[in-house]
Amino acid sequence: MQSGPISARGVTAFEPAEPPARTEQLKFPVSEIFNSRQGEGKLTGVPSHFIRLAGCNLRCWFCDTPYASWNPQSESYSLDDLVQGAIDSTLQHVVLTGGEPLMFRGIERLTEKIRRVGLHLTIETAGTLAPNVVADLMSLSPKRFGSQPTIEKVEQVPHLQEIPLPTIERWQTLHESRRWKPQAIQKLIADSFDSQVKFVVDNHAEAADVEQAVSELQLAADQVWIMPQGVTAEGLEEHARWIRPWCEALGFHFCDRQQIHWYGNRPGT
Ligand code: SF4
Repeated sequence: MQSGPISARGVTAFEPAEPPARTEQLKFPVSEIFNSRQGEGKLTGVPSHFIRLAGCNLRCWFCDTPYASWNPQSESYSLDDLVQGAIDSTLQHVVLTGGEPLMFRGIERLTEKIRRVGLHLTIETAGTLAPNVVADLMSLSPKRFGSQPTIEKVEQVPHLQEIPLPTIERWQTLHESRRWKPQAIQKLIADSFDSQVKFVVDNHAEAADVEQAVSELQLAADQVWIMPQGVTAEGLEEHARWIRPWCEALGFHFCDRQQIHWYGNRPGT
Protein backbone atom coordinates (compact mmCIF):
# COMPACT_ATOMS: atom_id res chain seq x y z
CA MET A 1 0.00 0.00 0.00
CA GLN A 2 1.29 3.45 -0.89
CA SER A 3 1.24 5.52 2.26
CA GLY A 4 2.38 8.93 1.10
CA PRO A 5 1.92 11.29 -1.82
CA ILE A 6 4.04 10.48 -4.83
CA SER A 7 5.72 12.98 -7.07
CA ALA A 8 5.51 12.73 -10.84
CA ARG A 9 8.77 10.80 -10.67
CA GLY A 10 7.27 8.17 -8.40
CA VAL A 11 9.22 9.15 -5.31
CA THR A 12 7.38 8.73 -2.03
CA ALA A 13 7.29 12.08 -0.27
CA PHE A 14 6.31 10.80 3.18
CA GLU A 15 7.77 7.69 4.74
CA PRO A 16 5.36 5.19 6.32
CA ALA A 17 5.05 5.61 10.08
CA GLU A 18 2.58 5.08 12.87
CA PRO A 19 -0.02 7.84 13.27
CA PRO A 20 0.99 10.46 15.82
CA ALA A 21 -0.70 9.96 19.15
CA ARG A 22 -2.24 13.43 19.28
CA THR A 23 -4.89 14.53 16.81
CA GLU A 24 -3.59 18.09 16.68
CA GLN A 25 -0.24 16.83 15.39
CA LEU A 26 -1.78 15.33 12.26
CA LYS A 27 -1.03 17.24 9.06
CA PHE A 28 -2.43 16.77 5.58
CA PRO A 29 -1.15 17.99 2.20
CA VAL A 30 -3.97 20.10 0.81
CA SER A 31 -4.09 21.19 -2.80
CA GLU A 32 -7.22 23.30 -2.51
CA ILE A 33 -10.15 24.13 -0.26
CA PHE A 34 -13.23 25.76 -1.70
CA ASN A 35 -16.99 26.08 -1.42
CA SER A 36 -18.99 25.07 -4.46
CA ARG A 37 -21.88 22.91 -5.57
CA GLN A 38 -21.41 19.17 -5.88
CA GLY A 39 -21.21 18.48 -9.61
CA GLU A 40 -21.58 14.70 -9.76
CA GLY A 41 -23.78 11.91 -8.47
CA LYS A 42 -26.76 11.74 -6.16
CA LEU A 43 -25.92 15.00 -4.34
CA THR A 44 -25.53 17.03 -7.54
CA GLY A 45 -26.26 20.68 -6.85
CA VAL A 46 -25.80 20.48 -3.06
CA PRO A 47 -23.66 23.37 -1.72
CA SER A 48 -20.54 21.76 -0.26
CA HIS A 49 -17.19 22.54 1.34
CA PHE A 50 -14.50 20.72 -0.66
CA ILE A 51 -11.16 19.64 0.80
CA ARG A 52 -8.84 18.29 -1.88
CA LEU A 53 -5.79 16.39 -0.65
CA ALA A 54 -2.76 16.33 -2.94
CA GLY A 55 -1.29 12.96 -3.87
CA CYS A 56 -2.62 9.86 -5.56
CA ASN A 57 -1.50 6.25 -5.79
CA LEU A 58 -2.76 6.10 -9.40
CA ARG A 59 -2.06 8.12 -12.54
CA CYS A 60 -5.08 8.03 -14.83
CA TRP A 61 -4.25 9.53 -18.24
CA PHE A 62 -7.47 11.57 -18.17
CA CYS A 63 -7.05 12.91 -14.62
CA ASP A 64 -8.79 16.29 -14.41
CA THR A 65 -6.95 17.25 -11.21
CA PRO A 66 -3.28 16.77 -12.23
CA TYR A 67 -2.30 19.24 -9.48
CA ALA A 68 -3.39 16.53 -7.02
CA SER A 69 -1.91 13.53 -8.89
CA TRP A 70 0.71 13.85 -11.66
CA ASN A 71 2.11 17.05 -10.26
CA PRO A 72 0.91 17.34 -6.67
CA GLN A 73 0.97 20.85 -5.27
CA SER A 74 0.04 21.35 -1.67
CA GLU A 75 0.20 23.27 1.56
CA SER A 76 0.20 21.52 4.90
CA TYR A 77 -2.91 21.88 7.09
CA SER A 78 -3.49 20.47 10.53
CA LEU A 79 -6.48 18.23 11.18
CA ASP A 80 -7.96 20.82 13.52
CA ASP A 81 -7.61 23.61 10.92
CA LEU A 82 -9.39 21.48 8.31
CA VAL A 83 -12.27 20.73 10.66
CA GLN A 84 -12.54 24.35 11.81
CA GLY A 85 -12.52 25.51 8.16
CA ALA A 86 -15.40 23.15 7.42
CA ILE A 87 -17.35 24.49 10.39
CA ASP A 88 -16.60 28.10 9.39
CA SER A 89 -17.89 27.47 5.85
CA THR A 90 -21.37 27.21 7.45
CA LEU A 91 -22.20 24.53 4.86
CA GLN A 92 -23.68 21.25 6.04
CA HIS A 93 -21.86 19.09 3.47
CA VAL A 94 -18.15 18.37 3.36
CA VAL A 95 -16.53 16.57 0.43
CA LEU A 96 -13.14 15.01 1.07
CA THR A 97 -11.54 14.42 -2.30
CA GLY A 98 -8.22 14.20 -4.09
CA GLY A 99 -6.08 12.80 -5.50
CA GLU A 100 -6.70 9.81 -3.31
CA PRO A 101 -7.77 10.99 0.16
CA LEU A 102 -7.66 7.51 1.69
CA MET A 103 -3.89 7.15 1.29
CA PHE A 104 -3.01 9.60 4.05
CA ARG A 105 -1.93 8.81 7.56
CA GLY A 106 -4.58 9.90 10.03
CA ILE A 107 -7.44 9.97 7.53
CA GLU A 108 -9.55 7.88 9.92
CA ARG A 109 -9.33 10.62 12.54
CA LEU A 110 -10.03 13.43 10.11
CA THR A 111 -13.16 11.74 8.77
CA GLU A 112 -14.33 10.80 12.25
CA LYS A 113 -13.94 14.35 13.52
CA ILE A 114 -15.75 15.93 10.56
CA ARG A 115 -18.72 13.67 11.24
CA ARG A 116 -18.53 14.16 14.99
CA VAL A 117 -19.10 17.92 14.65
CA GLY A 118 -22.35 17.11 12.86
CA LEU A 119 -21.36 17.64 9.22
CA HIS A 120 -22.38 15.36 6.36
CA LEU A 121 -19.25 13.75 4.90
CA THR A 122 -18.80 12.52 1.35
CA ILE A 123 -15.53 10.75 0.58
CA GLU A 124 -14.52 10.63 -3.08
CA THR A 125 -12.12 7.76 -3.72
CA ALA A 126 -10.97 5.34 -6.41
CA GLY A 127 -11.51 2.52 -3.91
CA THR A 128 -8.04 0.99 -4.02
CA LEU A 129 -7.37 1.32 -0.28
CA ALA A 130 -9.71 0.52 2.58
CA PRO A 131 -8.76 2.18 5.87
CA ASN A 132 -11.38 2.16 8.63
CA VAL A 133 -13.29 5.25 7.61
CA VAL A 134 -17.00 5.92 7.78
CA ALA A 135 -18.73 8.27 5.35
CA ASP A 136 -22.30 9.44 5.08
CA LEU A 137 -21.78 8.97 1.35
CA MET A 138 -18.90 6.86 0.02
CA SER A 139 -18.52 8.00 -3.57
CA LEU A 140 -16.37 5.48 -5.38
CA SER A 141 -14.88 5.91 -8.82
CA PRO A 142 -13.05 2.66 -9.58
CA LYS A 143 -10.55 2.78 -12.39
CA ARG A 144 -10.81 0.21 -15.19
CA PHE A 145 -8.45 -0.59 -18.06
CA GLY A 146 -9.36 2.57 -19.97
CA SER A 147 -7.67 4.68 -17.30
CA GLN A 148 -4.17 3.27 -17.99
CA PRO A 149 -1.57 5.99 -18.56
CA THR A 150 -0.09 4.53 -21.74
CA ILE A 151 2.49 6.67 -23.52
CA GLU A 152 0.11 6.99 -26.47
CA LYS A 153 -2.68 8.37 -24.24
CA VAL A 154 -0.52 10.62 -22.07
CA GLU A 155 1.06 12.20 -25.14
CA GLN A 156 -2.40 13.42 -26.19
CA VAL A 157 -2.82 15.46 -23.00
CA PRO A 158 -1.32 18.98 -23.30
CA HIS A 159 -0.68 19.49 -19.56
CA LEU A 160 1.22 16.17 -19.29
CA GLN A 161 3.73 16.90 -22.05
CA GLU A 162 6.54 17.55 -19.55
CA ILE A 163 6.34 14.09 -17.94
CA PRO A 164 9.45 12.06 -18.91
CA LEU A 165 8.85 8.76 -20.74
CA PRO A 166 10.47 6.55 -18.03
CA THR A 167 8.14 8.15 -15.48
CA ILE A 168 5.09 7.38 -17.60
CA GLU A 169 6.26 3.78 -18.05
CA ARG A 170 6.84 3.35 -14.31
CA TRP A 171 3.41 4.74 -13.52
CA GLN A 172 1.76 2.55 -16.12
CA THR A 173 3.06 -0.51 -14.25
CA LEU A 174 2.15 0.84 -10.81
CA HIS A 175 -1.26 2.01 -11.97
CA GLU A 176 -2.09 -1.38 -13.45
CA SER A 177 -1.13 -3.23 -10.26
CA ARG A 178 -3.15 -0.91 -8.01
CA ARG A 179 -6.22 0.29 -9.86
CA TRP A 180 -8.73 -2.54 -9.32
CA LYS A 181 -9.28 -3.78 -5.74
CA PRO A 182 -12.82 -5.17 -5.52
CA GLN A 183 -12.43 -6.23 -1.87
CA ALA A 184 -11.49 -2.69 -0.87
CA ILE A 185 -14.51 -1.33 -2.73
CA GLN A 186 -16.83 -3.77 -1.03
CA LYS A 187 -15.43 -2.94 2.43
CA LEU A 188 -15.79 0.81 1.88
CA ILE A 189 -19.41 0.32 0.76
CA ALA A 190 -20.17 -1.93 3.73
CA ASP A 191 -18.62 0.50 6.23
CA SER A 192 -20.55 3.58 5.06
CA PHE A 193 -24.13 4.76 5.47
CA ASP A 194 -24.69 5.29 1.76
CA SER A 195 -22.65 4.78 -1.38
CA GLN A 196 -22.52 5.31 -5.10
CA VAL A 197 -20.15 3.77 -7.63
CA LYS A 198 -19.19 5.96 -10.58
CA PHE A 199 -17.40 4.80 -13.72
CA VAL A 200 -15.87 6.99 -16.40
CA VAL A 201 -16.67 5.67 -19.88
CA ASP A 202 -15.01 6.76 -23.10
CA ASN A 203 -15.99 4.10 -25.67
CA HIS A 204 -18.02 0.94 -26.22
CA ALA A 205 -15.23 -1.43 -25.10
CA GLU A 206 -15.11 0.41 -21.77
CA ALA A 207 -18.89 0.21 -21.46
CA ALA A 208 -18.72 -3.57 -21.82
CA ASP A 209 -15.93 -3.65 -19.24
CA VAL A 210 -18.06 -1.65 -16.78
CA GLU A 211 -20.85 -4.20 -17.11
CA GLN A 212 -18.32 -6.86 -16.11
CA ALA A 213 -17.14 -4.80 -13.12
CA VAL A 214 -20.71 -4.23 -11.93
CA SER A 215 -21.32 -7.96 -12.08
CA GLU A 216 -18.07 -8.76 -10.21
CA LEU A 217 -18.92 -6.27 -7.45
CA GLN A 218 -22.51 -7.56 -7.31
CA LEU A 219 -23.85 -4.02 -7.48
CA ALA A 220 -27.50 -3.22 -8.03
CA ALA A 221 -27.99 -1.14 -11.19
CA ASP A 222 -29.31 1.68 -9.03
CA GLN A 223 -25.92 1.99 -7.27
CA VAL A 224 -24.13 2.66 -10.57
CA TRP A 225 -23.44 6.09 -12.02
CA ILE A 226 -21.82 6.46 -15.44
CA MET A 227 -19.82 9.56 -16.27
CA PRO A 228 -18.80 10.34 -19.84
CA GLN A 229 -15.09 10.95 -20.36
CA GLY A 230 -14.43 14.56 -21.25
CA VAL A 231 -13.10 17.82 -19.87
CA THR A 232 -15.15 20.16 -22.08
CA ALA A 233 -18.92 20.61 -22.37
CA GLU A 234 -18.70 19.65 -26.07
CA GLY A 235 -16.75 16.44 -25.33
CA LEU A 236 -19.25 15.44 -22.65
CA GLU A 237 -22.23 16.04 -24.92
CA GLU A 238 -20.71 13.97 -27.73
CA HIS A 239 -20.26 10.99 -25.38
CA ALA A 240 -23.68 11.49 -23.82
CA ARG A 241 -25.41 10.77 -27.14
CA TRP A 242 -24.73 7.04 -26.88
CA ILE A 243 -23.96 6.64 -23.15
CA ARG A 244 -27.31 8.00 -21.96
CA PRO A 245 -29.44 5.41 -23.84
CA TRP A 246 -27.07 2.61 -22.78
CA CYS A 247 -27.55 3.67 -19.13
CA GLU A 248 -31.31 3.80 -19.53
CA ALA A 249 -31.34 0.28 -20.99
CA LEU A 250 -29.40 -1.15 -18.02
CA GLY A 251 -30.93 0.95 -15.23
CA PHE A 252 -27.68 2.83 -14.49
CA HIS A 253 -27.72 6.53 -13.63
CA PHE A 254 -26.28 8.76 -16.29
CA CYS A 255 -23.98 11.11 -14.39
CA ASP A 256 -23.11 14.31 -16.17
CA ARG A 257 -20.22 16.36 -14.81
CA GLN A 258 -22.18 19.46 -14.04
CA GLN A 259 -19.16 21.33 -12.70
CA ILE A 260 -17.68 21.33 -16.23
CA HIS A 261 -20.93 22.66 -17.72
CA TRP A 262 -21.18 25.23 -14.93
CA TYR A 263 -17.59 26.39 -14.61
CA GLY A 264 -15.37 24.65 -17.23
CA ASN A 265 -12.51 22.39 -16.14
CA ARG A 266 -10.62 24.50 -13.64
CA PRO A 267 -9.40 24.35 -10.06
CA GLY A 268 -11.66 25.53 -7.28
CA THR A 269 -14.83 24.05 -8.76
S1 SF4 B 1 -7.56 8.21 -9.25
FE1 SF4 B 1 -8.54 10.22 -9.55
S2 SF4 B 1 -7.05 11.72 -8.76
FE2 SF4 B 1 -5.95 9.78 -9.03
S3 SF4 B 1 -5.05 9.95 -11.07
FE3 SF4 B 1 -7.04 8.88 -11.30
S4 SF4 B 1 -8.52 10.51 -11.78
FE4 SF4 B 1 -6.66 11.52 -10.93
